[in-house]
Amino acid sequence: MGFLNGKTALVTGSTSGIGEACAKAYASEGANIVLNGFGDAAEIEKLRAGIESDHGVKAVYSDADLTNPEKIGEMVTLALDTFGAVDILHNNAGVQHVDPIEEFPVDKWDLIIGLNLSSSFHTTRLLMKQMKERKWGRLIFTASAHALVASPYKAAYVAAKHGIAGLTKVLALEGAEHGVTANAICPGYVWTPLVEHQIPDTMKARNMTREEVINDVILDAQPTKKFVTVEQVAAIALFLASDKAENVNGSLQVVDGGWTAQ
Ligand code: NAD
Repeated sequence: MGFLNGKTALVTGSTSGIGEACAKAYASEGANIVLNGFGDAAEIEKLRAGIESDHGVKAVYSDADLTNPEKIGEMVTLALDTFGAVDILHNNAGVQHVDPIEEFPVDKWDLIIGLNLSSSFHTTRLLMKQMKERKWGRLIFTASAHALVASPYKAAYVAAKHGIAGLTKVLALEGAEHGVTANAICPGYVWTPLVEHQIPDTMKARNMTREEVINDVILDAQPTKKFVTVEQVAAIALFLASDKAENVNGSLQVVDGGWTAQ
């Protein structure tokens, strides 16, 4: 018996990277899973079926584009119709864009604010009531070290992640007397497609080679000089989802190799 047996976790952006690792971690403790995100249909089905067979849980997939509030509503309906409740809502989906403010494309600003910030408002808006009614809930956010500090050329991302830090604190207060906690995980650089994809733009913005970007920009920020792993992030998420964490509320859990200690 896992400690999440009979519970359901909805993890946005869980077809890849951090979200995928967190979904697998929740399933490993017995939670049923709602997957969401983009990608190759056959790969996603392999992931969904693998979670079911590896952990003896049920997993469903929603292809909702989280920049569209209507699609978020459909994803929430799928989750509630399938499992009757969502106990753990892990708002994780996010994208990045790197450009100086004067060249920052308006559509990228809108995309990042919509996905990295507003989608968490919509999912939580739709799922908080049923958590409060059942007197147990876990709101977990994948924020970032960029919820605490800034880097140049990441205006939308840093603004959205600071917004997530604020939203987390508000929800911690709103849920406190109802058994619902809200916490954000703030990773430094984790080796996932999100980091891989920003290397070319950073090369351009800073006029650097790929190696210079990895060593002088990315790992330079992390005193350990090591990428955070998705499993290290998932281990924190799993703790936050446990009963042992019932008094961890409104926190920003830093996992950044010492980056924000500087
Ligand atoms: P990733 O690219 O591996 O995963 C992103 C996920 O979001 C994928 O499943 C993707 O399909 C999904 N997604 C993208 N656009 C979407 C949309 N419109 N609607 C629904 N799903 C969408 O990236 P990752 O590194 O695992 O990032 C996950 C989260 O972690 C993000 O919020 C990111 O900001 C945060 N984060 C990442 C790092 C890092 O270094 N990788 C560091 C700190 C925080």
